Amino acid sequence: MRDLLARVAGSGPKPAQGNVRRDLGGAALAFAAAAVLGNWVEEFTAFEWSLWAVQAILALSLTLVWGYGGIFSLGQAAIYGVGGYTYGFWAINLTDNTGESLTAVLVAVLVGAVFAALLGYFMFYGNVTDVYVAIITLATSLVLFAFVNSTSGRAYRIGDAPFGGYNGMPRIPRITWRLPGGESHELTRTQFFLFCVAAGLLIAVAIRVLSRRPFGRIAVALQHNELRTGLLGYDVRWHKLAVFTIGGAIAAFAGALFAAWGRFMSPPVFSLTPAALVVIWVLVGGRSSVSGAFVGVLVVKGFSSWLGGASGDNEPIVLGVILVLIVLLLPGGIVANLSRLRTWTQSRISLSATRLGTDAEAVDYQLEPSLASPTPEVAQQRARLIATAAVTKRFGGLAAVDAVTLEFPRGVSCLIGPNGAGKSTLLDLLSGRQRPTAGAVMLDGQDLTKREPFLRARGGVGTKLQVASVYESLTVRENLWLACYAMPRDIEEADRRAAGLLEWLDLRDEAEQAAGTLSHGKKQWLEIGMVVSTDPSVVLLDEPTAGMTREETERTANLVRELGEKASVIVVEHDMDFVRQLDAPITVLHMGSMFSQGTFEELSGDDRVIDIYLGAHHSNGSPSDSRGPAPGRPPNAGSAEADGAITAGGSADADA
Ligand code: ADP
Ligand code: MG
Repeated sequence: MRDLLARVAGSGPKPAQGNVRRDLGGAALAFAAAAVLGNWVEEFTAFEWSLWAVQAILALSLTLVWGYGGIFSLGQAAIYGVGGYTYGFWAINLTDNTGESLTAVLVAVLVGAVFAALLGYFMFYGNVTDVYVAIITLATSLVLFAFVNSTSGRAYRIGDAPFGGYNGMPRIPRITWRLPGGESHELTRTQFFLFCVAAGLLIAVAIRVLSRRPFGRIAVALQHNELRTGLLGYDVRWHKLAVFTIGGAIAAFAGALFAAWGRFMSPPVFSLTPAALVVIWVLVGGRSSVSGAFVGVLVVKGFSSWLGGASGDNEPIVLGVILVLIVLLLPGGIVANLSRLRTWTQSRISLSATRLGTDAEAVDYQLEPSLASPTPEVAQQRARLIATAAVTKRFGGLAAVDAVTLEFPRGVSCLIGPNGAGKSTLLDLLSGRQRPTAGAVMLDGQDLTKREPFLRARGGVGTKLQVASVYESLTVRENLWLACYAMPRDIEEADRRAAGLLEWLDLRDEAEQAAGTLSHGKKQWLEIGMVVSTDPSVVLLDEPTAGMTREETERTANLVRELGEKASVIVVEHDMDFVRQLDAPITVLHMGSMFSQGTFEELSGDDRVIDIYLGAHHSNGSPSDSRGPAPGRPPNAGSAEADGAITAGGSADADA
């Protein structure tokens, strides 16, 4: 499903470029055009167009939530409905007395935001993700639909405003305003149109500005790789909740305008059709830019009113066909493809000129200032002691980690063991990616067991996963920027440090390249760089050298040794040459338990250790073909790992 969503919506947005003044300029131009047109056409036509502007605002709410935040919500139309009804209740009851209904708009926005915040809280803090978010938001809409439909009785009213059930809520006041002590004015139809257009354009500019702020960059980042974002120390759930709440406020605002436009609200606004229609607008226009919302509404609505004139019956079919064509032929939506055409025809230089932090002056990068402590004593104090107490993790009947009690000394330690020994799971328990079934994890004597991964990251635990986890579709520079911003939370500082890191990691030439296009080894190296740049005092590295060339491996060994002088570094490795180079104390895991501990020399002479490696091969059923991936290997074993185990067995064997 996630693949499908990714396909229909392209790879999602990159952090937006440009500046506020240019955005405002563009919006002013669009508004001027709307003003000329709106005053030129019949008042009635302008009023018709207002609805398009209102729906573009609704579409913008999804652009923010889905396009930027990666939350696939089918509930935007429902929040729009909540906003519309709220406006109705408030305006019907109070406008006669106050002579204005702008307060009602404000209340509708607040109620929409609170509604979205509550719904979002249950979803995101309940760890609901992906397609389940779509299901829950849709289910919420349908519950509202059923509820409002059943409120036709006289008892269902707030003050003078009836719910009205399936008959709907009539006589909702239009937008009126009044200065204190002055007279009450109702917006004319043309004024209402221009009000909606101005509001839509301002919201679009605001979303663009927001997307360039760290808040927006983090929202884009978490959509690309939630796991990595958490491991860098960002509070993913809070970010999602914030995005969803702002989106809710925008949708409710559109709903209030809709109620004032039609002077009527009825339950079908909570039904399946509007829920899906919002997605279609955004899909057709393209979710990766705010203009997609306007284009999507214009194209889809234009098409359906054109069709509605001829034969309204065929409309759903034709719309369906357009949707399928768009998904198949223009997967990023119309706007993304138009801009692709434009960049293709223009020179490509301007493209990268405004990218994240490119203009920052690179500072000479060394290990973090705080990591590069002046004296060994200070360094020793900084390095922190991570330990486990009888920690156990069961997956069903299998104990992947079985009552392991370990204290990792300061400096570098290695963790080895055959495939499926539980090494990655143990690191997951330390980083917080997995919660133990029993036992505890401690950092400097403090119990970490229940702490969220992002809080552990903020507490100084940096994690490099077995399968390199970077932001594949963001550039190398953007990847580093996100890592550098995580702790100091300072934009300029992050720009400079990211530029410095690029030099230091020797990834300058690849800076503006998507991280997904890097070679396997370079990707690992980038991820290590990201982890190091968060200034960790405990570093967890799961198979850092998999896929690296000999030279890259050597460079990594140097880095790990250097890190070990300032932090506690735990390295899981299969490459025995690498482990030998590190010259660090080694713990051997086997079948989830601690098997043995010692130095490289001690362990490579230990027959029992060699046996478990060889035993792993024999039990895999391919003693003769030692390089082929074995049929019986554990399901999670990647091919790099399978090869690694053999290297390990081989090296240990050779040493014996
Ligand atoms: P290693 O990294 O030492 O190769 P792992 O920690 O990845 O080993 O896996 C240890 C055991 O736990 C394996 O048998 C593996 O199949 C199992 N395992 C790991 N993760 C999961 C999971 N998420 N669900 C079920 N079983 C798992
Ligand atoms: Mg592993």
